[in-house]
Amino acid sequence: MPSVPLDVASAVAAKRTGAAWSPRLVKALVDGYTCGDVDDAAMTEVLSAVFDRGLDDDELAAWTGAMLHSGSVLDWSWLDRPAVDKHSTGGVGDKISLCLAPAVAACGAAVPMVSGRALGHSGGTLDKLESIPGFRVDVSLDEARAIVERHGLVLMGQTAELAPADRRIYALRDATGLVASRPLIVSSIMSKKLAEGLAGLVLDVKVGSGAFMKTLADARDLGAALARVGAAQGCSTVARLTRMDRPLGRTVGNALEMREALEVLAGGGPSDVRALTLELGGEMLALVGLAESVADGARAVARVLDDGRARAVFRALVIAQDGDPRVVDDPSRLDVAEVRVPVLAPRDGFLAAIDGEAVGRAVHALGSGRSSPGAKVDLGVGLEVLRGVGERVSAGEPIFELRVRDRAAGQAEAARFVAAIEFADDPPEEVPLFLERLEVRAG
Ligand code: URA
Repeated sequence: MPSVPLDVASAVAAKRTGAAWSPRLVKALVDGYTCGDVDDAAMTEVLSAVFDRGLDDDELAAWTGAMLHSGSVLDWSWLDRPAVDKHSTGGVGDKISLCLAPAVAACGAAVPMVSGRALGHSGGTLDKLESIPGFRVDVSLDEARAIVERHGLVLMGQTAELAPADRRIYALRDATGLVASRPLIVSSIMSKKLAEGLAGLVLDVKVGSGAFMKTLADARDLGAALARVGAAQGCSTVARLTRMDRPLGRTVGNALEMREALEVLAGGGPSDVRALTLELGGEMLALVGLAESVADGARAVARVLDDGRARAVFRALVIAQDGDPRVVDDPSRLDVAEVRVPVLAPRDGFLAAIDGEAVGRAVHALGSGRSSPGAKVDLGVGLEVLRGVGERVSAGEPIFELRVRDRAAGQAEAARFVAAIEFADDPPEEVPLFLERLEVRAG
């Protein structure tokens, strides 16, 4: 069929008058930008029109499909394990991937997990992994295939071959202030995840002060849009909406969170981190037929955490990705900053809430956050939560302990952490960890 020249200006004008784009036009726009036929200025007009007018379900499916197929899509049909993964929309203290992926692999699934770095106030799995000396997240696709075949999982960064359109479009969105658009976020997240070649995907959509989605209604809409796009591309998708009105677990900061994940892999760890690992793991196993139900899957995950199999899988993976496995046996080898600065309660009362975003930003200010892509971060700094939401405290009691390199610098930041805490005279109402669930099966 002869190709028709792409008229970007007419496409933008049509969208601005409320017309829907055909799947063919959507693909031409995305492909045109990826191969250089559409320049930055024209694509900025396209993205602005999407930012202002949105995309309907068919347009979003076509846009995501075009981004997904702009590069390699992994294929695991040759493996004797179904491929499944989890994606979190980002929270504070969210180290679940580190314990979940090895546990689900130990239960018989393939988990080809491609993760990101810290974004805004929330942390990144790659940074946490790099707190293990030598651990290499820069893995080629051939190597990823070999590691998954041998160990059942890989934990790696995005490569140039996976969804290259997303890299280009994300960079342009970032430079032009067009990041905060629901369809652009959905297509960006899903194109990268679906390029992993998954049979199933579980989304942990975080809701609350430490999440990008502050309200249940927003999180519900995002979860539904993500799940519909997944299923439209042949990947059965479950979205779990979970609480993020306080940091997850008892630590925030890269090496500290790695240490806490290792505790969970050794059968211990904070109850919320373990509960999420079991539930999301149960979902993953049930989604790809490795468990009869989510509850059965969760029991299987509990078994591999408690009998050491999940930890053994993680240890083998650390060796495969050039990390120091002694850290797995002895987490005290992780380089956690040694200076401890307590953050004291300014009054008596109950801890009613801990503003996750404020804590995330304050921990970044200690040196663990990036102000520009590629900037160096201190993986050893962070925060230990000594008293949690719902507990009663007295004035002068330590609530957090900062882990920093320099006492004066830590003390200078302490007030920001105090400001993140909300006190009340009465015990707060308990918010459940698991809020809502949505499943969309591929057709
Ligand atoms: N995470 C992504 O991968 N893309 C976005 O657009 C936003 C968050």
